Amino acid sequence: MLNLVLFGPPGAGKGTQSQKLIEKHGLIHLSTGDLLRSEISQGTELGLEAKKLMDHGTLVPDEVVIGMISHKLDANKDAKGFIFDGFPRTVAQAEALDQLLASKNAPILGMIALEVNDDELEQRLLLRGKDSGRPDDANPEVIRKRIKEYNDKTAPVAGFYKAQNKFKSINGIGSINEIFDEIDDVIAAY
Ligand code: AMP
Repeated sequence: MLNLVLFGPPGAGKGTQSQKLIEKHGLIHLSTGDLLRSEISQGTELGLEAKKLMDHGTLVPDEVVIGMISHKLDANKDAKGFIFDGFPRTVAQAEALDQLLASKNAPILGMIALEVNDDELEQRLLLRGKDSGRPDDANPEVIRKRIKEYNDKTAPVAGFYKAQNKFKSINGIGSINEIFDEIDDVIAAY
């Protein structure tokens, strides 16, 4: 199974690159942000609780996202592989993912990180906020909070995969196709 984690701060291009990867390799895209926004648009209790945190740029509790991912893994038993986008975002989530995948004998092949500096991220997110309709993209204060959450809680997840020799990082600034080619080269070398 081709199980990959696409890693990087908000605005690094994970969603865009995930889309191209699932097209090329026939994988299932698991974005916890998308799953949470779908809960919000369906007006579920989980969605309403998550929205309060997401609107402030704060991470939702680990058990909520781990539960959603576990459910999706079970619902896609015949998948060729998964692209995890925006998950795991804490070391506890990474540990839980390893456990979930161990029970399926399909470990993470690697984590690919897209490196983009904070100024560029802020610009990209503000631009995206103009037409994405996402309230968390439209407000500079919330954007900075999301980047801070990333630096405090999510950046350490890289160390988790480095310790397993699974971490690769590439420059996330450039054209979409150039970055995709680099990601694909990394995948081919795994
Ligand atoms: P994203 O679409 O990945 O930028 O996520 C949007 C928001 O959803 C984040 O700012 C968090 O509030 C929440 N979220 C998404 N994925 C996770 C996760 N793995 N852990 C905790 N919160 C998450």
